[in-house]
Amino acid sequence: MTTLAILTAAGSGTRLGRDVPKALVEVGGLPMIAHAARALVDSGVVDALVITAPPGRSAEVRAAVGPLALELQVVDGGATRQASVAAGLALAGPGTDVVLVHDAARPLTPPALVRRVVAAVRGGHGAVVPGLPVTDTIKRVLPDGGSPAGRTAAGEPVVERVVDTPDRSVLRAVQTPQGFEHGLLVRAHAEGAARATAEHLAATDDAGLVEALGEPVHVVAGEPAALKITTERDLAVATLMLDECLEER
Ligand code: C5P
Repeated sequence: MTTLAILTAAGSGTRLGRDVPKALVEVGGLPMIAHAARALVDSGVVDALVITAPPGRSAEVRAAVGPLALELQVVDGGATRQASVAAGLALAGPGTDVVLVHDAARPLTPPALVRRVVAAVRGGHGAVVPGLPVTDTIKRVLPDGGSPAGRTAAGEPVVERVVDTPDRSVLRAVQTPQGFEHGLLVRAHAEGAARATAEHLAATDDAGLVEALGEPVHVVAGEPAALKITTERDLAVATLMLDECLEER
């Protein structure tokens, strides 16, 4: 029984506006990728790690992570997150029966969450995601023809039309790590492979590919500390939370 974790770190992180890839940006003096890798190791339930690095930057990523007490492979990521995960999945060793997929952009993820996800997969659930109830009311809107939200060419704010308001009590904001039986995740990526080449087609999480197969996906309780860092504000929040999160490990 071997649990492989694929740690996705190949994104550019343009919304953070730095000149290094997001995974190499520091939180409290340590790169995000190092925090995320340590959480996986500290969980005690991960046997092997594959990191998807921005193409050509694998040496930097390896150096940023530092020495780890488990087998580490670093692979060039693809054009989309889905393509990066597929590249990592191709490196799974023959004994792999559970695969976790985790975002380097969630550096404060508690090791206990990693254990919760793996326990649910080993307990018989083929696909498991951590999720939190949503506090905002969420509206579905009509697509605006693919133009980026913001201002039109004429400088007018884009106005979107609301389609409906889903019942908030049945919505979950989904995080990583997401956990899968190895064979199920391989099948999901194989079936969805045609989507991996373009951002507007690609799955934004791996559970979505399993759902597309018609296979069940289950939710376990997520953790506020597993927040994803996308903006400068997220980075400031994570820095404020850091000491408390590390104490809880
Ligand atoms: O862009 P976003 O924050 O949604 O990316 C989620 C995670 O996927 C990040 O950790 C990012 O580094 C990773 N990623 C990747 N390959 C890509 C795009 C994103 O590994 N092509």
